[in-house]
Amino acid sequence: MKKMILNNYGSFDLTFVKGKNATMWDAKGKKYIDFISGIGVNCLGHNYKPLVREIAKQAKKQIHISNYYFSDIGLVYADELLKVTGFEKGYFGNSGAEANEAAIKLARKYGQLNGGEKRKTIVTLENSFHGRTLATLTATGQDKFHPECFAPYPEGFKTIKANDYEAIKTAFDDTTAAFFVECIQGEGGVNLLDPAWIQAASDAARAAGAIVMADEVQTGIGRTGTFLASDFLDFKPEVVTLAKGIAGGLPMGACLFRGKAADVFVAGDHQSTFAGNPLVCSAAKVVLETVADWEFLDRVNHVGDYIRGAISSWILPIVKGVRGRGLMIGTQIDSSVKPFDIEVKCLEKGLCTTVAGADVVRFLPPLTISDKEVEQGLAIYKEVLESFCK
Ligand SMILES: *Cc1c(COP(=O)(O)O)cnc(C)c1O
Repeated sequence: MKKMILNNYGSFDLTFVKGKNATMWDAKGKKYIDFISGIGVNCLGHNYKPLVREIAKQAKKQIHISNYYFSDIGLVYADELLKVTGFEKGYFGNSGAEANEAAIKLARKYGQLNGGEKRKTIVTLENSFHGRTLATLTATGQDKFHPECFAPYPEGFKTIKANDYEAIKTAFDDTTAAFFVECIQGEGGVNLLDPAWIQAASDAARAAGAIVMADEVQTGIGRTGTFLASDFLDFKPEVVTLAKGIAGGLPMGACLFRGKAADVFVAGDHQSTFAGNPLVCSAAKVVLETVADWEFLDRVNHVGDYIRGAISSWILPIVKGVRGRGLMIGTQIDSSVKPFDIEVKCLEKGLCTTVAGADVVRFLPPLTISDKEVEQGLAIYKEVLESFCK
């Protein structure tokens, strides 16, 4: 079996068989605390009863019908999602990269309609991550994602330094179609944007005639303690992309538009066969109705603050800092220790984590993680970090 799966993730030799909230069991019966939830996908944890029930119920009615027609559940879900997020229209896809491809296409068409052939460039940030298709790889502001073997890469992308006021002065002009940013850089190292900077950069982009687009594939759906991370940054993007947690583990993405971006796409401009089928919409509806709730999000903030506070209080020499928002958490590790070695040691002791950027251990636990699971996971993490301090 393992020989049959292309090992393009450098996966661990570890096979999981089941999970319950933030706890998973491997094939040997060993228990793990899940601080990564399938890279922020299983936002309601494993085997969340209402989610399982709705998926089963929908599967009995209809799984897929194509986008030639509407599904009842799809219409209800789209309406609820637009209401909660304050967007006017949306496109559903199957992944983060696909949602971002839709945003990139929309930006290009917007540029063409509002400035002609020259307005085509999409400005992104250094250290960003936007996906693995050719266009989203090119949008990704990290050289390690641009090996020569995949060249040529598409044209019309430019990266600038985040939180750099000088960069804003020359970043945008009449060739800029869109400014495209992650609200907190996930893959790049859990790097926060300065709220005043993102306001200033968005103002400059709009003054140059461009639209502003937020990649909330990782930060969206309650991950950072507000339903969208752009809500707390308050820079009002015209386009937002979502995926990862959106359907609690089923593959789905979304690209939402409003204002100047609302009427760019017309029928035929963009489509995808599986996109937003009734099954994924049934799951996404449960996620939305659970997460878009004041008390639920309040707890996400509370648990996130608790975890960051706990790690800071340990005062370990290899920990250089703890950052993030809500349940998107990064521990910056001293250059004397590789974060990957910490990940491996954690896994041996029964804790799933992942790395981000060059020097960060990243946590994206289920938003529903219990207090007990938090304590169990933190106890393992502390023991592992201490073992590297000796
Ligand atoms: C994961 C991620 C993507 C890519 O999503 P896929 O579903 O893997 O295509 C894009 N942008 C951000 C910010 C991500 O975290």
